[in-house]
Amino acid sequence: MTRVIRRFDALAAAKYDSMPDGGKRSRIDLEQVFGENVFTLHLMKARLPKAPYEALLSTIKNGTKLDPSVAEFVAEAMKEWALEKGATHYTHWFQPLTGSTAEKHDSFLKPTGDGRAIVQFRGEELVQGEPDASSFPSGGLRATFEARGYTAWDPTSPAFIMEGPGGAYLCIPTAFASWAGDALDKKTPLLRSMRAIDEQARRALALFGSEPKAVRATLGAEQEFFLVDEEFYYRRPDLEATGRTLFGTKPPKGQELDDHYFGSIPARVLEYMNEVELELYRLGVPLTTRHNEVAPGQYEMAPIYEDANQAADHQQLLMSTLQRVARKYGMVCLLHEKPFQGINGSGKHLNWSIATEDRNLLEPGSTPHDNMQFLFFTAAVLKAVARHQDLLRATVAHAGNDHRLGANEAPPAIISAFCGDQLQDIFEQIEKAGQATSSKPAGLLGLGVDVLPQLPKHAGDRNRTSPFAFTGNKWEFRALGSSQSISFPATVLNTIVAEAIDDMCTTLEADIEKGVSFDEALRALLAAEIPDFKHVIFNGDNYSDEWVEEAERRGLLNLRGTMDALPSIVNEKNTKLFEKYGVLSHRELESRFEIYVERYFMTVNIEGEMAQHMAQTMLLPAAVRYLRDLLTTAEQSDGLGLRSEGVLKTASRVNELVDKLTDAIDALARQNQELGGDDILSKADHMRVNIIPAMTAVRDVVDRLERIVPDDLWPVPTYREMLFVK
Ligand code: ADP
Ligand code: MG
Repeated sequence: MTRVIRRFDALAAAKYDSMPDGGKRSRIDLEQVFGENVFTLHLMKARLPKAPYEALLSTIKNGTKLDPSVAEFVAEAMKEWALEKGATHYTHWFQPLTGSTAEKHDSFLKPTGDGRAIVQFRGEELVQGEPDASSFPSGGLRATFEARGYTAWDPTSPAFIMEGPGGAYLCIPTAFASWAGDALDKKTPLLRSMRAIDEQARRALALFGSEPKAVRATLGAEQEFFLVDEEFYYRRPDLEATGRTLFGTKPPKGQELDDHYFGSIPARVLEYMNEVELELYRLGVPLTTRHNEVAPGQYEMAPIYEDANQAADHQQLLMSTLQRVARKYGMVCLLHEKPFQGINGSGKHLNWSIATEDRNLLEPGSTPHDNMQFLFFTAAVLKAVARHQDLLRATVAHAGNDHRLGANEAPPAIISAFCGDQLQDIFEQIEKAGQATSSKPAGLLGLGVDVLPQLPKHAGDRNRTSPFAFTGNKWEFRALGSSQSISFPATVLNTIVAEAIDDMCTTLEADIEKGVSFDEALRALLAAEIPDFKHVIFNGDNYSDEWVEEAERRGLLNLRGTMDALPSIVNEKNTKLFEKYGVLSHRELESRFEIYVERYFMTVNIEGEMAQHMAQTMLLPAAVRYLRDLLTTAEQSDGLGLRSEGVLKTASRVNELVDKLTDAIDALARQNQELGGDDILSKADHMRVNIIPAMTAVRDVVDRLERIVPDDLWPVPTYREMLFVK
């Protein structure tokens, strides 16, 4: 009764058969497709009068203040273009603190009062929207009677058309704030942090004698995810409600053979990825890489890096497109950090750098030891990471990621930085001798066969275990969870590096004021900074137990779980940091803290209730049915004079587990009844201290039962079935 027919395989096969020319494909004009649904700079140039275009361009490229009169021209051109594309509505598209995106559609049609209507889109409608904010999380920033919220046009991220069978509409990226002007979204602080790093990096560059118009943070995020058959998904209430399986034993064959990673992509999945890519190309998202990940059923897709603000918007589009398109292929895309226990979880690597219009400031060149500017910025990053381990850790703290961090497949909860042999050596030279005179050569990779090319070798190997690794010309923050928005981690990176640059510039400027030469001041600065941050550099295996001990000796923080990490968001050091650079006010910070704690509470609370419900109404009954079968068999055999020892032995085993499960469910039910105090912190703590252990206890028994209850009586699809999408 429970076995599933793999009907989607048949569907996929039918699809190939029905393709013209037996599956031969025709040319896709990729260049035409890319950005087809985006109101690009290129289009604006063609459609806007010269003066407003120039004004807008300067806002987009250099962050200059936007002249309000420009909006009227842009709105008109945008509307015309959107109508040509078949759009009927527009929406201010924003990122509330739920972690996903929000939109409220308005029609372009305006009644004229005589029974007719005209299409109209005015500058003020482009610039400002007024959605009811009362149902978005605000963390106490807004009393429920102050429902007003505002959205404000972000001209630095282009508008785009979303289209589907239901119609097309124009999406305008916006920031979202409360009536009192507090940020209620992820974009506003990100933009503010970009201003901070722009100012400080330009101040530093001026000392080095260059004066670029702007310095931008750049981001490239690698997205991991699982795919499961939709049919299985609907039959797993835990997956549907919580995004992960609350029960399930490891299949006999999982990822042990390493035969999935980089393996050839199954046809149905490839077809799906192609469609995801085409949709995202049309939205101007520069996807570039796709491959199988380590676990069966796990995949990765990654775009080419972009300006931080656009990259963050595009990341949200990537996640929603992955989920939406999967349904067309009879699959569900799971973005949860740990959908399956005992199988690798999913992360999101956030690659981060800073750049002027034409130069990556973290590019070391071939002789990094005498690239003082590179060393300056690199030292600033390391100084920032050493000082703000707590904050970086907090940006990746949420219930889902607790299953991953430190679980021998992802970086531990200790924040350290990998910088590779070459950089390490340079820093050691500077620390010892006041300056560095050589760089360890990178060399060539000889493969011992003449027909193969000699490959240039990177000076530093990769370190897959580090939470924060220098990877040649960018830093890779690898501790992010797969489901999370990249905005807050990026906001924090920008802000803490801005602060480090600020401090270092202040020292340099003071020395120069005293008459010290710039070169001399810089050498002295680096030599003085290195001892302060070198304890955060770790090039070894972050997964090892020795590292945990060594990190403790070094005095590094080890904030294991979400509830250990979150409180640091609002400590004095961090409150001052965010206020100093105008990134988040004290009020905004407090509200975020409250929202994150509440989210943790709600996530675990739902899991606790769901675990109780499934165990009580689906899994325990399955075990009892099996017990009844066994007892009936024994009774009947008895009548025939058979001894049925095996049957009785099994029955007593099942009976014992049924007893245990009943007790465990009762214990969980009692904990679910209590919510642990009135304030959100004690509620969240109740989840951590009582609910999670009670759920684990239920799961332990259920997973043992799954191994003995007959397959056809087990009411939910197992890992063995779900993990192998073909
Ligand atoms: P990996 O082997 O870690 O997957 P890749 O070379 O594929 O490394 O790059 C991973 C990501 O890093 C991509 O999204 C890429 O665009 C991004 N990236 C490369 N350079 C930069 C940069 N300067 N700033 C931000 N991200 C970058
Ligand atoms: Mg990577």
